[in-house]
Amino acid sequence: MKNKKAIIFGAAGFIGNHLVARLKAEGYWVRGVDLVSPKYQLSEADEFLLGDLRDASFVASCITEGIDELYQLAADMGGAGYVFTGENDANIMHNSALINLHSLELALKWKVKKIFFASSACIYPKHNQEDALAPICAEDSAYPAMPDSEYGWEKLFSERLYEAYRKNYGLVCKIARFHNIYGPQSVYEGGKEKAPAAICRKVALAKEGEQIEVWGTGQQTRSFLFIEDCLDAIRLFMDKDGFYGPINIGSTEMISINDLTKMVIALSGKSLGIKNIAGPVGVNGRSSDNALIERELKWSTQYQLAKGMQVLYHWIEDQLNKQK
Ligand code: NAD
Repeated sequence: MKNKKAIIFGAAGFIGNHLVARLKAEGYWVRGVDLVSPKYQLSEADEFLLGDLRDASFVASCITEGIDELYQLAADMGGAGYVFTGENDANIMHNSALINLHSLELALKWKVKKIFFASSACIYPKHNQEDALAPICAEDSAYPAMPDSEYGWEKLFSERLYEAYRKNYGLVCKIARFHNIYGPQSVYEGGKEKAPAAICRKVALAKEGEQIEVWGTGQQTRSFLFIEDCLDAIRLFMDKDGFYGPINIGSTEMISINDLTKMVIALSGKSLGIKNIAGPVGVNGRSSDNALIERELKWSTQYQLAKGMQVLYHWIEDQLNKQK
């Protein structure tokens, strides 16, 4: 049987580089595309094209005939320090929207058989996430829309764009809303890191007795999904005929950011305190609603948070040791 051909946009990113490895292990031929090469681990892609997906002529050179699956993961994104300050809004919206517009046009031209679009839990309305203990993130609660960031608005616009191409041109577009994916190879320094990796870095660098700075009251809640569980969900979703989403890919194991910090401190074996400081935090509460994914894909998480965070903590500790 002929190997399936996949293209991954954003293949140097955290999820993208893992996805390349997963598809290779499944026997795919893979073309990775990104602005940069992967930072922490070499790409296993058969072909890796470096370039800017905001440029239509570059996208035209990436998408060719005979592609079975396109995974569109490229986006201008980061953690709260990047997305919630407001300082990067114009770039976030402009850059990611251009990538999605070009991707669809070229996928249509070359009749790509299936397209995966990585949307985000950030599309959910702010007013449904004010209660830190009972946020509402069921897929059908997205409208009337009021995301709390321009990043979320761009994702929502692009979801609708992929849906419109499916409706008008019959392109098989599948939309997943990721909820805080974490694991090795996630960025852990430099301003684009997210809470799990940032906390692991701070704890790994702290000396006995120090206080770990946590943005906000620390009572804001989130759920986090380990990368291996995320990859399983992506692949099941792509293989399920006739189901297009949008679907949440996340965990229901909700935790406050202070409790997550305490978990990491316990993993480190150090004696450390927590100091809550002012900083960008986003909504009060957010957790995945998994009713739809459990029903449609018979998928559930294999990694409890404590197990996944242990893997992440040790990976970041190793990375920091290598820097010394
Ligand atoms: P990431 O930032 O690690 O990866 C994104 C990749 O896209 C980067 O390698 C970046 O270089 C590339 N990229 C950005 N602009 C580009 C351009 N103009 N041309 C070519 N490449 C470009 O992000 P990730 O965590 O791997 O997330 C992947 C996707 O999933 C993104 O679309 C993100 O918005 C979405 N998502 C992720 C999470 C999460 O928790 N990681 C949550 C919700 C949604």
